[in-house]
Amino acid sequence: MKARYWCSAAALATFVLATPTLAKGPTDADLMADAASTGDVLTYGMGPRAQRFSPLTAINAGNVSRLVPAFSASLGGEKQRGQEAQPIVYDGTIYVTGSYSRLFAFDARTGEEKWQYDARLPDGIMPCCDVVNRGAAIYGDKIIFATLDARLVALNRETGKVIWNKEIGDYKAGYSATAAPLIVKGMVITGNSGGEFGIVGSVQARDVNTGELIWNRPMIEGHMGTFKGQDNGITGKTNASWPGDLWKTGGGATWLGGTYDPETNLLYFGTGNPAPWNSHLRKGDNLYTSSTVAINPDTGKIVWHYQTTPHDGWDFDGVNEFIPFDATINGKPMKLGAKADRNGYFFVLDRTNGKFIGAHKFVMQTTWADGFNAKTGRPNYIEANRPGMPSADGKGSQVFASPSFLGGKNWMPMAYSNDTGLFYIPSNDWGMDIWNEPIAYKKGAAYLGAGFTIKPIAEDHIGALRAMDPKTGKIVWEYKNKAPLWGGVLTTAGNLVFTGTPEGYLKAFDAKTGQELWKFQTGSGVVGSPVTWEQDGEQYIAVMSGWGGAVPLWGGEVAKTFKDINQGGALWVFKLPR
Ligand code: CA
Ligand code: CA
Repeated sequence: MKARYWCSAAALATFVLATPTLAKGPTDADLMADAASTGDVLTYGMGPRAQRFSPLTAINAGNVSRLVPAFSASLGGEKQRGQEAQPIVYDGTIYVTGSYSRLFAFDARTGEEKWQYDARLPDGIMPCCDVVNRGAAIYGDKIIFATLDARLVALNRETGKVIWNKEIGDYKAGYSATAAPLIVKGMVITGNSGGEFGIVGSVQARDVNTGELIWNRPMIEGHMGTFKGQDNGITGKTNASWPGDLWKTGGGATWLGGTYDPETNLLYFGTGNPAPWNSHLRKGDNLYTSSTVAINPDTGKIVWHYQTTPHDGWDFDGVNEFIPFDATINGKPMKLGAKADRNGYFFVLDRTNGKFIGAHKFVMQTTWADGFNAKTGRPNYIEANRPGMPSADGKGSQVFASPSFLGGKNWMPMAYSNDTGLFYIPSNDWGMDIWNEPIAYKKGAAYLGAGFTIKPIAEDHIGALRAMDPKTGKIVWEYKNKAPLWGGVLTTAGNLVFTGTPEGYLKAFDAKTGQELWKFQTGSGVVGSPVTWEQDGEQYIAVMSGWGGAVPLWGGEVAKTFKDINQGGALWVFKLPR
């Protein structure tokens, strides 16, 4: 009897070791169901498809004018830079990331701080476009975020203590990270930043419990992918669309992260500009830069790609989020995806295979191309508007280009309403003078080979929130804003669209007509992404306030529209009065 007892105890011990008890907290299934679960916000984008649509209706177009603050919570310190984060809300806690790689846990009912984690950043980090962070990911007992020194950190979500901390890339070579991670099937999936330093963009999947790398898929042709430490095939075909050795430092940063569609089991990641900016040095399409790339998360292999700006010469990063949606086009129900690109065109693709359905201009002006060829899905280039090749000793011919390199739309996420069938695009109308200059790659140094000055192109606005009908390509309504828009969008079944302005307002619009219904002054520019959830029987709205990001760093002549905006760093939470 005794022997048998020991035997079963040993067997039990083996079983327990092999199957660790699941930590309490959000599961894979919870993350996939996030768009429908109204009591929490578990993912960046409010669902893996990142539609940023809530079915909640307690706050609606009829009563939003009565919305008031429930509380505000300061991020404190002297580190008041751009606050581009989207909050995560779970089990009575709001998690927000802050500038300089900080993560805060606030009580969701009072705003009282539960804990704060400050990453210890080394000297010599090279973020191109302010020290921002766009949000965290939650899973089980962990809250996970990326830091400016190109690391991924998993913290215990109740204590803020580090569970694991892994390097994504070498910050001394210009790698950094600012995007919110995506969690799919127990894997944390991230991109990387550094396209202005000649890094190689890639998508990486790690075990969420340990941080160990599972697979890595480079986004530049010629580079070898890996799967569990083994070679997993070269991306593309070496030198097929890149000349010489330039692909080795070819850019294509995946700096905005990605979306996931459970229906097709595909990850959709956007890729940034080819490096350097001077396109004359790199003949060819330069795959897979300025593209949307679909990856199978089980294999780490590319399933399809669509290049929005082949042979980019204007820094038209194609990183913008690709949002899966379904619609009936020409009488046929289709599984689609849409992306509002930095190059000024709104793309609709078949998300199962990447087939081109349409490209619609959503900004005032595109000087680099005149639409897209419906058959080939390639842009009709206006070659005269490509900046010229520099001579050996000086700058090449300067051109005026629109949109500017900050884009018809930049990082700030759009939203898609299942109710109206419209996409709500935070866009900007601006151009730039751009020219090429001599350049050579040097590790850790800027690798542009170009100069630029951003300029306004309209008297009355730069920013424009636009409602796009993806079936027709028509703009249904627009709201113009004096300063450039730089915050994300939220839409709800209450017929509402929310977005922030650099002037400090969080605003609510009628989703069907665009009529402005409500605004609240937060004290600093709003460049974060709003979210909504239900708590104790009431609907809440939350957004980060804190002016910064790329615009004040690179705004050129546009800077006068925001020179009086003060910096800040606060979480604002709103609800209807009882
Ligand atoms: Ca949810
Ligand atoms: Ca870029």
